[in-house]
Amino acid sequence: MQIVFLGTSGSWPTPRRNVSAVAVKRGPEVLLFDCGEGTQRQFMLSKLSFMQVSRVFVSHFHGDHFLGLPGMVQSMSMNGREAPLDVYGPRGIERLVGELLALGYFTPGFAVRAKELPPGGEIDGGEYVVRAFEAVHTVPCVSFVLEEKTRPGRFSVDRAEALGVPSGPLYSRLQAAATRCPMRRCSRWPAMRTCSSTMRRQMRPSRRRRIGTGIRPRGRRPNSQRRPGSASLS
Ligand SMILES: [Zn+2]
Repeated sequence: MQIVFLGTSGSWPTPRRNVSAVAVKRGPEVLLFDCGEGTQRQFMLSKLSFMQVSRVFVSHFHGDHFLGLPGMVQSMSMNGREAPLDVYGPRGIERLVGELLALGYFTPGFAVRAKELPPGGEIDGGEYVVRAFEAVHTVPCVSFVLEEKTRPGRFSVDRAEALGVPSGPLYSRLQAAATRCPMRRCSRWPAMRTCSSTMRRQMRPSRRRRIGTGIRPRGRRPNSQRRPGSASLS
Protein backbone atom coordinates (compact mmCIF):
# COMPACT_ATOMS: atom_id res chain seq x y z
CA MET A 1 0.00 0.00 0.00
CA GLN A 2 1.27 3.42 -0.94
CA ILE A 3 -0.05 6.71 0.45
CA VAL A 4 0.62 9.86 -1.56
CA PHE A 5 -0.26 13.29 -0.19
CA LEU A 6 -1.28 15.14 -3.34
CA GLY A 7 -2.50 18.21 -1.45
CA THR A 8 -2.26 19.25 2.17
CA SER A 9 -3.21 22.92 2.04
CA GLY A 10 -6.54 24.20 3.27
CA SER A 11 -8.97 26.71 1.72
CA TRP A 12 -6.62 27.69 -1.11
CA PRO A 13 -3.38 26.41 -2.57
CA THR A 14 0.04 27.87 -1.91
CA PRO A 15 2.96 27.99 -4.37
CA ARG A 16 4.29 24.75 -2.88
CA ARG A 17 1.19 22.93 -1.70
CA ASN A 18 -2.09 22.08 -3.34
CA VAL A 19 -5.48 21.81 -1.68
CA SER A 20 -6.78 18.61 -0.13
CA ALA A 21 -6.28 15.24 -1.77
CA VAL A 22 -4.74 12.01 -0.54
CA ALA A 23 -4.24 9.05 -2.85
CA VAL A 24 -3.93 5.51 -1.54
CA LYS A 25 -2.62 2.99 -4.03
CA ARG A 26 -3.66 -0.49 -3.11
CA GLY A 27 -2.93 -3.17 -5.68
CA PRO A 28 -4.06 -2.05 -9.11
CA GLU A 29 -6.49 0.59 -7.87
CA VAL A 30 -6.12 4.03 -6.34
CA LEU A 31 -8.50 5.34 -3.71
CA LEU A 32 -8.70 9.12 -3.62
CA PHE A 33 -9.70 10.93 -0.46
CA ASP A 34 -10.88 14.44 -1.35
CA CYS A 35 -10.25 15.98 -4.71
CA GLY A 36 -9.37 19.64 -4.43
CA GLU A 37 -8.84 21.88 -7.44
CA GLY A 38 -5.80 20.82 -9.47
CA THR A 39 -5.66 17.27 -8.11
CA GLN A 40 -5.24 15.81 -11.61
CA ARG A 41 -2.09 17.89 -12.08
CA GLN A 42 -0.79 16.75 -8.72
CA PHE A 43 -1.22 13.19 -10.00
CA MET A 44 0.96 14.09 -12.97
CA LEU A 45 3.67 15.27 -10.61
CA SER A 46 3.52 11.98 -8.72
CA LYS A 47 4.23 8.40 -9.84
CA LEU A 48 0.53 7.59 -9.78
CA SER A 49 -2.05 8.09 -12.52
CA PHE A 50 -5.50 9.56 -12.06
CA MET A 51 -6.68 6.92 -14.54
CA GLN A 52 -6.14 4.33 -11.79
CA VAL A 53 -8.62 6.00 -9.45
CA SER A 54 -11.53 3.67 -8.81
CA ARG A 55 -13.22 5.41 -5.89
CA VAL A 56 -13.31 9.00 -4.68
CA PHE A 57 -14.28 9.83 -1.10
CA VAL A 58 -15.35 13.43 -0.49
CA SER A 59 -15.25 14.47 3.14
CA HIS A 60 -17.48 17.57 2.83
CA PHE A 61 -18.67 20.15 0.39
CA HIS A 62 -16.25 23.01 0.85
CA GLY A 63 -14.72 23.73 -2.56
CA ASP A 64 -11.14 22.94 -1.59
CA HIS A 65 -12.23 19.32 -1.14
CA PHE A 66 -14.17 18.64 -4.35
CA LEU A 67 -13.57 21.26 -7.06
CA GLY A 68 -10.96 19.07 -8.73
CA LEU A 69 -13.55 16.41 -9.48
CA PRO A 70 -15.14 17.76 -12.71
CA GLY A 71 -11.76 18.51 -14.31
CA MET A 72 -10.37 15.11 -13.40
CA VAL A 73 -13.47 13.34 -14.72
CA GLN A 74 -13.22 15.25 -18.01
CA SER A 75 -9.55 14.27 -18.38
CA MET A 76 -10.40 10.64 -17.59
CA SER A 77 -13.05 10.73 -20.30
CA MET A 78 -10.71 12.30 -22.86
CA ASN A 79 -8.17 9.58 -22.06
CA GLY A 80 -10.71 6.95 -23.03
CA ARG A 81 -11.76 5.69 -19.64
CA GLU A 82 -14.58 3.17 -19.72
CA ALA A 83 -14.52 1.79 -16.18
CA PRO A 84 -17.08 3.35 -13.82
CA LEU A 85 -15.98 5.76 -11.12
CA ASP A 86 -17.60 5.61 -7.70
CA VAL A 87 -17.86 8.82 -5.69
CA TYR A 88 -18.85 8.72 -2.02
CA GLY A 89 -19.60 11.53 0.39
CA PRO A 90 -22.02 12.93 2.97
CA ARG A 91 -25.70 13.44 2.31
CA GLY A 92 -26.22 15.39 -0.91
CA ILE A 93 -23.31 13.87 -2.82
CA GLU A 94 -25.60 12.62 -5.62
CA ARG A 95 -26.92 16.12 -6.26
CA LEU A 96 -23.48 17.72 -6.02
CA VAL A 97 -21.88 15.28 -8.47
CA GLY A 98 -24.84 15.60 -10.83
CA GLU A 99 -24.48 19.40 -10.88
CA LEU A 100 -20.69 19.25 -11.33
CA LEU A 101 -20.96 16.92 -14.29
CA ALA A 102 -23.70 19.01 -15.92
CA LEU A 103 -21.42 22.04 -16.29
CA GLY A 104 -20.78 23.21 -19.85
CA TYR A 105 -20.90 20.95 -22.88
CA PHE A 106 -19.59 17.78 -21.36
CA THR A 107 -20.89 14.29 -20.85
CA PRO A 108 -18.51 11.69 -19.39
CA GLY A 109 -17.91 8.64 -21.54
CA PHE A 110 -18.15 6.38 -18.51
CA ALA A 111 -20.45 6.00 -15.53
CA VAL A 112 -19.85 8.26 -12.53
CA ARG A 113 -21.80 6.70 -9.68
CA ALA A 114 -22.35 8.96 -6.69
CA LYS A 115 -23.44 7.32 -3.48
CA GLU A 116 -24.11 8.72 -0.04
CA LEU A 117 -21.77 7.46 2.68
CA PRO A 118 -23.04 8.95 5.95
CA PRO A 119 -21.38 8.54 9.35
CA GLY A 120 -21.64 4.88 10.34
CA GLY A 121 -21.72 3.71 6.74
CA GLU A 122 -19.08 1.58 5.09
CA ILE A 123 -17.96 0.46 1.67
CA ASP A 124 -16.79 -3.10 1.19
CA GLY A 125 -13.98 -3.18 -1.34
CA GLY A 126 -13.41 -6.92 -1.14
CA GLU A 127 -10.07 -7.07 0.65
CA TYR A 128 -10.66 -3.82 2.49
CA VAL A 129 -13.41 -1.72 4.05
CA VAL A 130 -13.75 2.06 4.13
CA ARG A 131 -15.78 3.30 7.07
CA ALA A 132 -17.22 6.78 7.52
CA PHE A 133 -17.28 8.63 10.83
CA GLU A 134 -18.75 11.98 11.75
CA ALA A 135 -16.16 14.76 11.83
CA VAL A 136 -16.42 18.10 13.62
CA HIS A 137 -16.63 20.98 11.14
CA THR A 138 -18.85 23.96 10.33
CA VAL A 139 -20.74 21.90 7.74
CA PRO A 140 -21.72 18.20 7.60
CA CYS A 141 -18.45 16.34 7.31
CA VAL A 142 -17.21 12.77 7.48
CA SER A 143 -13.79 11.30 8.05
CA PHE A 144 -12.79 7.95 6.63
CA VAL A 145 -10.98 4.88 7.90
CA LEU A 146 -9.45 2.44 5.45
CA GLU A 147 -9.26 -0.95 7.08
CA GLU A 148 -7.70 -4.01 5.48
CA LYS A 149 -9.32 -7.36 6.13
CA THR A 150 -7.35 -10.19 7.65
CA ARG A 151 -5.13 -11.88 5.12
CA PRO A 152 -3.44 -15.29 5.25
CA GLY A 153 0.08 -15.19 6.61
CA ARG A 154 3.12 -15.75 4.44
CA PHE A 155 3.54 -19.43 3.71
CA SER A 156 7.03 -20.83 4.19
CA VAL A 157 7.59 -23.52 1.60
CA ASP A 158 11.02 -24.28 3.05
CA ARG A 159 9.54 -24.80 6.50
CA ALA A 160 6.77 -26.99 5.13
CA GLU A 161 9.24 -29.11 3.16
CA ALA A 162 11.47 -29.45 6.21
CA LEU A 163 8.48 -30.77 8.13
CA GLY A 164 7.63 -33.19 5.35
CA VAL A 165 4.35 -31.64 4.30
CA PRO A 166 3.57 -32.87 0.79
CA SER A 167 3.10 -30.12 -1.78
CA GLY A 168 -0.38 -29.70 -3.15
CA PRO A 169 -3.75 -28.69 -1.76
CA LEU A 170 -2.54 -29.06 1.81
CA TYR A 171 -0.34 -26.00 1.34
CA SER A 172 -3.32 -23.75 0.73
CA ARG A 173 -5.15 -25.30 3.67
CA LEU A 174 -2.21 -24.61 5.91
CA GLN A 175 -1.91 -21.02 4.72
CA ALA A 176 -5.61 -20.41 5.21
CA ALA A 177 -5.26 -21.75 8.75
CA ALA A 178 -8.04 -24.22 8.29
CA THR A 179 -10.06 -24.54 11.45
CA ARG A 180 -11.31 -28.00 10.79
CA CYS A 181 -9.39 -31.14 10.16
CA PRO A 182 -9.93 -32.32 6.56
CA MET A 183 -10.02 -35.88 7.85
CA ARG A 184 -12.54 -34.84 10.50
CA ARG A 185 -10.66 -36.86 13.06
CA CYS A 186 -9.57 -34.16 15.38
CA SER A 187 -11.18 -31.09 16.89
CA ARG A 188 -8.61 -30.17 19.50
CA TRP A 189 -6.74 -27.64 17.35
CA PRO A 190 -9.27 -24.85 16.88
CA ALA A 191 -6.99 -22.55 14.93
CA MET A 192 -4.31 -24.93 13.83
CA ARG A 193 -3.36 -25.43 10.21
CA THR A 194 -4.18 -29.12 10.29
CA CYS A 195 -4.36 -31.76 12.92
CA SER A 196 -1.56 -34.09 13.77
CA SER A 197 -3.39 -37.21 12.62
CA THR A 198 -3.89 -35.74 9.15
CA MET A 199 -0.31 -34.64 9.00
CA ARG A 200 0.86 -38.13 9.87
CA ARG A 201 -1.26 -39.71 7.18
CA GLN A 202 0.00 -37.40 4.48
CA MET A 203 3.66 -37.40 5.30
CA ARG A 204 5.93 -39.61 3.24
CA PRO A 205 7.57 -42.45 5.20
CA SER A 206 11.07 -41.26 4.31
CA ARG A 207 10.29 -37.83 5.70
CA ARG A 208 8.92 -39.28 8.89
CA ARG A 209 12.26 -40.71 9.78
CA ARG A 210 14.30 -37.76 8.63
CA ILE A 211 12.58 -35.10 10.68
CA GLY A 212 12.26 -37.34 13.70
CA THR A 213 8.67 -36.74 14.65
CA GLY A 214 8.47 -40.00 16.52
CA ILE A 215 5.64 -41.12 14.29
CA ARG A 216 5.19 -44.82 14.17
CA PRO A 217 2.73 -47.06 12.37
CA ARG A 218 -0.62 -47.09 14.05
CA GLY A 219 -0.84 -49.42 17.05
CA ARG A 220 2.85 -50.14 17.43
CA ARG A 221 3.50 -47.82 20.37
CA PRO A 222 2.03 -48.67 23.78
CA ASN A 223 -0.53 -46.22 25.12
CA SER A 224 1.80 -45.15 27.88
CA GLN A 225 4.33 -43.86 25.38
CA ARG A 226 1.93 -41.99 23.13
CA ARG A 227 2.34 -38.27 22.90
CA PRO A 228 0.80 -35.50 20.81
CA GLY A 229 2.14 -35.32 17.28
CA SER A 230 5.00 -32.90 16.82
CA ALA A 231 4.56 -32.27 13.12
CA SER A 232 2.73 -28.99 13.45
CA LEU A 233 3.77 -25.79 11.70
CA SER A 234 3.79 -23.46 14.67
ZN1 LIG B 1 -14.01 22.68 5.08
